[in-house]
Order: sequence, then C-alpha cells, then structure tokens
Amino acid sequence: MKVLVINSGSSSIKYQLIETEDENCLASGLIERVSLPVGIISHKKHGELSHKEEAPVKDHQAGLDMMLKLLLHEKHGVIRSYREIDAIGHRVVHGGEKFTHSVKIDDKVMEALESSTYLAPLHNPANILGIKAARHLLPDIPNIAVFDTAFHQTMPKVAYVYALPYEFYEKRGIRKYGFHGTSHQYVSLKAAETLDIPYDKICAITCHLGNGCSIAAVKDGKSVDTSLGYGTMCGLVMGTRAGDIDPAIIVSMVEELKLTPSEIKNILYKQSGLLGLSGVSSDMRDIEKEEEKNNERAKIALDIFADRVRKYIGAYAVTLGKVDAIVFTAGIGENGWEIRERICRGLEAIGAHLDIEKNKIRGKLAVVSKDESPVKILSIPTNEEMMIAKETVKILSEE
Ligand code: AMP
Repeated sequence: MKVLVINSGSSSIKYQLIETEDENCLASGLIERVSLPVGIISHKKHGELSHKEEAPVKDHQAGLDMMLKLLLHEKHGVIRSYREIDAIGHRVVHGGEKFTHSVKIDDKVMEALESSTYLAPLHNPANILGIKAARHLLPDIPNIAVFDTAFHQTMPKVAYVYALPYEFYEKRGIRKYGFHGTSHQYVSLKAAETLDIPYDKICAITCHLGNGCSIAAVKDGKSVDTSLGYGTMCGLVMGTRAGDIDPAIIVSMVEELKLTPSEIKNILYKQSGLLGLSGVSSDMRDIEKEEEKNNERAKIALDIFADRVRKYIGAYAVTLGKVDAIVFTAGIGENGWEIRERICRGLEAIGAHLDIEKNKIRGKLAVVSKDESPVKILSIPTNEEMMIAKETVKILSEE
C-alpha cells in the first residue's frame, strides 16, 4: 500500500509517501512558514533533494495542494495519479482518554478531536487543520489519525493518576497522558526484532532524547509508565524545558516574584532545560563543544541531563522487574554517543554494561552493550512516519 503520512504543525507540514510493502519512503518533504509572507518548500524524491523553492503558502490547504502537485510532478513526482495513494495517516498529538488506538477519521471523530483541543492547545488545532485540508482535497481517500498519546493508554492507574485531590482526575481529566508514543512504540518493535524477542514479551526502557525528551517503561510490548505527563513539561531535562521541578517553585514565582502565568510558562517552556542551565544553547552539539572549551555551565548542564535520564532508567528497571533492553533514540539518543556514554555510567548496577568502542556510532541501529551484558543497550533511529504508516495499514486491514 502507498500511505501518505502527514505531520501538520501550526506553521509547517511534513509529509512522506511510503510504500508499506517494503517500508520504502518514495518521497518526503517539508513545507515551512505556512501563512507567512514567504514559505519554504523542500521536496525529496527517493531520499535526494529534488526541489526547493520559496513561495507564499497561504494556509494548510494551499500547502497540501503544493505537496500533491510535487508528488504528481513529471520530474519530482513519484505517482501518476492521486488515486495511487491508498490512505493518509495523520499524526495527532493528543487523543485524550477517548482515543486509545489509531482510528479511521469520520465526522464523529472530527467532532471528538475538535472538542479535545484544550488538552493540547498548541498542537491539536494544527493537526486538525491538516486533516481538514486532506479530507477536502482528497475526499475519496481514507484518513487515519495516529495519536502520540495512544501507546501510553495501557499505563495502569498507579502510573497515571497524580496524588492530587481525586476530583482533578475524575472531573477534569487531569492525569498523566504521555507523549512521543509513536516513537516509543516504533523503537520497541525494532528492539524486539533486533534481539529476536517476540514483541509481546519484550521489556524495554525506551529513551526518546531529542529537543523534547521522554522515557517509557515498556512491559510485554505495552507502555506501563512514561516521564511526560498531563502536558509536555515534566520528566527529563529537555532543550528548553525544565522537566521535573518542585511545584513550590511555581508558587514562589507567583507569590514572591509576582510573575504572570504567561511569564512562568515562558520560563518553563522556553528558557529552562539545557539552555537555561548552560546559558549557551538548547542544542546538545553546541553544549558539547562548549564543554570541550572547559565551560563549567556546559559541563553541569550535561551532567544534570545525564543524571536525570539515569535516575528514570533506574526507577523503570524496578517498575519492569526484568529489562531486556535500554533503547536510545531521537536526535540526541541516536546520534550523541558521548551523552549515551555519560548516561550509562553507573547502569552496571542494573546489569547494563556499555561497550565504549561499539557505542561510538551515530544515527545507526546497533547493539552497543558488551556481548555479555544481561541488559542490552541499543541505539535505534526513530521513524515516527513509518510507524504511522504501519498503523494506517493496520486500521484499514481491520475494517
Ligand atoms: P530532535 O528533536 O530529535 O531533532 O533532536 C534534536 C537534538 O538532537 C538537538 O539537541 C541536537 O543537538 C541533537 N543532536 C543531533 N545530532 C547530534 C549529534 N551528532 N550529537 C549530539 N547531539 C545531536
């Protein structure tokens, strides 16, 4: 099947046309600066950049229209008619408690999605714009929504209910939802395949370390805990987000510093994490370079980042009882071998022994633990688009 995967953000659209039979990405692209005076369109055919232009992209519909023209283009295209597209898989950030699985989109699903935008006010409205545009432009092609939160809907109550007055959960749906589910699911599947363990038997700790970071405990192929929560601010240290902090700090920001909610949000979302600690950048590569120049704050930023990941790995090892694999993925996890080494210092305590030499790789699927290590350590490039395509095929085959 040919599945068009769409990841629609507020001002960008990422797309991939995937032949799912052989998991081959036929074409992909990025449309940036949607709704701004000048947009940027980059399109790859079979992995090679084949077209780049700057032009206004009025809205999401105009963006998808450009994408379709490129997919059908004589030189840059990979299909002759849009009828060759069998289905469209959309990334949707938040599915709330309602969507525990991917779902075929109809008017009822659209209504439910629109009514849950308060859960992810930055992301879901943009995802919905992409779905609406696709339904309008390609009315005969089935659309499937694949949720970032769905993989974590298997968490037990002990993991997802906060110790607040219970009404917050019951009446307002304030609970842990978790994010990056598509990535955690994809790398869990790949880890099972690589280690030759049946998927419904694998117990893994998956570390999605990118600009946003989260970690998941996967037991018998199902998520049983994860570090992101009701929103996307808690857990690990991220590029510009603080991760876990004492809520008393927020009370003090309000009462002592008289900061407004939007100032606090800006500090917690945009000025904290690696950026706030290092004062250099939110980008791991910049901080690593600064550390080489003996910048003390860069060093402490990296130490705190690694320490937080290591603590969660320890906690999740206990949650799982048995760990087959610790998996590193996303920009930092799959490329940053230096930070992987830093995180793994001390993990021998739970039976995970890193092989320092094997670990020196970037962007490749590899087992990087010592041969005799009871817990395997893996670097696995994530591929959320491929997971969305797989989910799309699965939902259609169940019809
Ligand atoms: P993502 O959000 O998954 O695109 O990841 C972005 C993060 O990956 C940034 O902090 C980058 O610095 C980091 N990253 C990308 N390449 C490398 C690399 N070769 N070494 C260390 N970190 C990297």
